[in-house]
Amino acid sequence: MADIVRLLPDHVANQIAAGEVVQRPASVVKELVENAIDAKASVIKLIVKEGGKSLIQVVDDGVGMSVTDARLSFERHATSKITSADDLFALHTKGFRGEALASIAAIAHVDMLTRTANDELGTQLRIEGSKVVSQEPVATPKGTSVAVKNLFFNIPARRNFLKSNQVELRHITDEFHRVALAHPMIEFHFYNNGSEFFNLPKTNLRQRIVHVFGLKMNERLVPVDEETQVAKISGFICKPEYAKKSRGAQFFFANNRFIKSPYLHHAVIAAFEGLLKPERVPGYFLYLEVPPNSIDINIHPTKTEVKFDDENTLYAILRSAIKHALGQFSVAPALDFERDPNLDTPYAFQHKGAILPKVTVDADFNPFQEKQKGGGQQTYQKVSTKGWQNLYPGLEGIASQNFELISQETTKEAEELFDERTEKISYEVATFQYKRKYIVTTIKSGMLFIDQNRAHQRVLFEQFLKEMTVNEGISQQLLFPLKLDFSNEELRILKEIKGSLNTMGFSFKESEDGVVVVEGIPLSAEHGDIQRLLNELISNYREDISQGELSQAEILARTLSKALAVKNGEVLATESQLALVNDLFNCKEPMLSPFQKMTYVTISEGDIENKFI
Ligand code: ADP
Ligand code: MG
Repeated sequence: MADIVRLLPDHVANQIAAGEVVQRPASVVKELVENAIDAKASVIKLIVKEGGKSLIQVVDDGVGMSVTDARLSFERHATSKITSADDLFALHTKGFRGEALASIAAIAHVDMLTRTANDELGTQLRIEGSKVVSQEPVATPKGTSVAVKNLFFNIPARRNFLKSNQVELRHITDEFHRVALAHPMIEFHFYNNGSEFFNLPKTNLRQRIVHVFGLKMNERLVPVDEETQVAKISGFICKPEYAKKSRGAQFFFANNRFIKSPYLHHAVIAAFEGLLKPERVPGYFLYLEVPPNSIDINIHPTKTEVKFDDENTLYAILRSAIKHALGQFSVAPALDFERDPNLDTPYAFQHKGAILPKVTVDADFNPFQEKQKGGGQQTYQKVSTKGWQNLYPGLEGIASQNFELISQETTKEAEELFDERTEKISYEVATFQYKRKYIVTTIKSGMLFIDQNRAHQRVLFEQFLKEMTVNEGISQQLLFPLKLDFSNEELRILKEIKGSLNTMGFSFKESEDGVVVVEGIPLSAEHGDIQRLLNELISNYREDISQGELSQAEILARTLSKALAVKNGEVLATESQLALVNDLFNCKEPMLSPFQKMTYVTISEGDIENKFI
């Protein structure tokens, strides 16, 4: 039998390796910018077009490369940064595997210009899919420019896998933040689609943070500074009152390289013990300096995860450094040893159980039953609130958990307000529409301004979530089924979300030729443009799911509620206004729209009286 084991041709091996190094445009940005930093650049320009799909270019004024080096740099395992295995343990540079350029060149069109200070002429090198297309001497400034075009041009599967330009740009921006924050002494410019996105002059760390995150950051920062045998810790934490629910400004750097470390993150949170509201995460920019041989950055190909020799000690040092910083700037009752630590463990979700607003109003109250079906100008449809307390039976999953989190903050107010409403809501309560945008009504203690669009979003959102959870979406069969076209990618997503769409009231099937035939739509989608609605559902789903914060059900319910809610500018009949108010306060989370915007504001009697003084 013939031998069957073969060595893969180089270009195939490169493509495979490329998969590991280059996941998306942001990975290219990271590799190129790190190379520029290793080349001792003092000014680095990043130029990106279409989320990096069509162009990523990094221009530096670093040491540049000779003709031979330029050519060699694209060979696999070509690196100037280590010569022996020992060097691996004492690294001061970012790269060392020598495979970034080879990998990138395997899956894109690369155009490199480079010149060293000693050479008069530089080198231009063009490579497409690992093949050198041209190499010529050129006049070019000292330093290196690498332009990467048409990423994944020869791997369509990978190219299709890329997210929208916006999402890819966000990943690139995250990567840019990380290097920019690690190197305040380097000037950075970032151009996106031809316009300047960031312009960061050479400065100190504090100023760099402020340049990246905005002026408001300045007052929030508290310096951290601690030097021990094991590690030096410096940087800033944000004051606890600015801690946010969403993750964002949390950065660890080890020896000036951005790292991820859930363990050290925990140390920071532990130091904030008792100072944070549940689920809030403080911002931080923390720089650890440890001996290079005490840290293994090689355990992950993309090099953001690291292994420290003595993690436990580091944990303790970090925690006390931050406690110290918080105490010194008297942002913390850090010296209050009387505290019962059990009372303020931040991660024990002490109020784990959902606190449902006490709804005492008759949930079936609906004086406008008749009006519901009528089309015409009245686009608000009264949603049955029957049995809404059972909205999420047995759903201890993601959706209800998120609700709990919000409810901890908002239920109290809603509850109070609602108690007032329960005695007031009746036929006599007057509502009127202000600027075709707000519904105004009175409550015991003053006035209530409800944003009609956001309020209706909230009502629909909960309705759709409920339908998806208890599987009882009301569908309205179309007399003339709609035939709609979708791209392959869209069809793929449509299949992925089909189950949820069905429970919300959509029913459709795919005919042989790839056309989608829609036979039923949700009741509330009656007047909508169905093609646009489905397109929106698909594209929002694609974007949001990549962020991983919401469940499929939430994403779809959110999009649908936004698309179908009454818009500002729409006139609402008095009955509809009242029904909307009633439905809103029958919601689990009346105070916020599904997009976390205020649905209503109150103006107290006192506020009004003060105006007359
Ligand atoms: P690594 O960075 O791991 O060494 P790369 O594939 O990223 O591997 O780069 C290979 C080599 O090319 C580097 O070791 C360096 O010598 C050279 N090089 C890459 N980018 C630049 C640059 N911007 N300026 C100077 N030299 C560079
Ligand atoms: Mg490199």
